[in-house]
Amino acid sequence: MKKYILAGVLAGNMLLLSSCATNPVTGKRDVMFMSESQEIAMGQETDPQIVAQFGLYEDPALQRFINEKGQQMAAVSHRDHLKYEFKIVDSPVINAFAVPGGYVYFTRGIMAHFNNEAQFAGVLGHEIGHITARHSAQQQSKSILAQVGLIAGMVISPQIAEMGEMASQGLGLLFLKFGRDDERESDRLGVEYSTKIGYDAKEMADFFTTLQRKQGENGQAIPNFMSTHPDPGDRYTTVKQLASEWQQKQNLTNLQVNRNSYLKMIDGMVYGEDPKQGFVENQVFYHPVLKFQFPIPTAWAHLNSPQQVQMAPQDGKAMMMLTLAPGKTLEEAGQQLLKQYQLQLVESKQVTVNGLPALAMIADQKQEQGVIRVLSYLIQYGGNIYNILGVTSAADFNSYAPIFSSTMQNFKQLTDQEKLNRKPDRVRIKTVPQATTLAQALRSFKVQDSKLEELAVLNGMLLTDRVEKGMLIKVVEQ
Ligand SMILES: [Zn+2]
Repeated sequence: MKKYILAGVLAGNMLLLSSCATNPVTGKRDVMFMSESQEIAMGQETDPQIVAQFGLYEDPALQRFINEKGQQMAAVSHRDHLKYEFKIVDSPVINAFAVPGGYVYFTRGIMAHFNNEAQFAGVLGHEIGHITARHSAQQQSKSILAQVGLIAGMVISPQIAEMGEMASQGLGLLFLKFGRDDERESDRLGVEYSTKIGYDAKEMADFFTTLQRKQGENGQAIPNFMSTHPDPGDRYTTVKQLASEWQQKQNLTNLQVNRNSYLKMIDGMVYGEDPKQGFVENQVFYHPVLKFQFPIPTAWAHLNSPQQVQMAPQDGKAMMMLTLAPGKTLEEAGQQLLKQYQLQLVESKQVTVNGLPALAMIADQKQEQGVIRVLSYLIQYGGNIYNILGVTSAADFNSYAPIFSSTMQNFKQLTDQEKLNRKPDRVRIKTVPQATTLAQALRSFKVQDSKLEELAVLNGMLLTDRVEKGMLIKVVEQ
């Protein structure tokens, strides 16, 4: 949640006129969905939205590093004439993604999980590969559907997804999906490009193992990097083999892995949710900067981004989201809301929510597939108007309305000092004092037993692996 609302304009941009052009990677003539100038225009239009949606991760040295490596790799790529930009966005999700025209993004979540520069370089090459091979992302609405389904743990009904689409266009970007063949081609290009700038591309395969283990952890969002690949084992083997072939063909020795320099660079990096962007504890959402809290319904999943907090039940039949509403008064905000979502007002009334002035509205949106009913609470607090929106089908409205209400009516000022002053967890790099197992070394740095496995994954190792005296390892501390 930040102080702006952004209307996405992406959905219409993805499916443009197709034309026949030579593919820079294969040299063959392909059907292209966009001309190069359309690609560039799209990238330029999308980039500020991504930056606004997620925010950049504030670490100039790290941003410099990704740009330096990115430019170096772009220069040896199949489309060296494009103007590339490389950015680290402030999201704990583990992902990297590319937008046509030369824009590449890594999350701080994925940066925290690399264990050396070579792993990073492999993924960097993979993302540049999507741009150079001119892969076209599948229709945006599909990826949003997948995304909303991902939050809910299943595919949500198309009607409700359509409503969610308006709010999650930016989010969908994190989960752009390419076809399986495109992913394979990008893996191959990742090996090629990272080898060409001097890195050992075998390390990229090892990072797939990290992703696979992460995927196995409870409650973790599945990075799209993995989700389009039903057989990660196959992908691992292929990348290892391609890396060997490149290394033999070029007779390359002393390829770089750069473990210690990478770890030192990410020392102190924010890990997991950053409380200042809002966090959830025991099914309550807290926002220490905007100073509010509200409960999330039992067994509902949630997804927090700078723009909004989204919530959905496992059956996917409803969704709720909290955003900032435009307008200076509750009435003005109410009118804007009806207009924005093309809603027909059923009823509205002035209420107070824990002492805060509010406007409660029920409204309908008529769609071809049926009527969608919305309960909205506009709440005035701290110079802002917050909008909590509950969406479901008219038929299901009576069963979901009490659940919506209980979240909306329990929105209140956050006063708990401990929550207000919550600091983020950070990756800290430690030097192993003596040869032992990873588990023992982590314990010696006071890592709790319940966190050991998560930290083994973060270190790209098994708990039983040997660590030598002087070796650097990651722990998570405040
Ligand atoms: Zn990919």
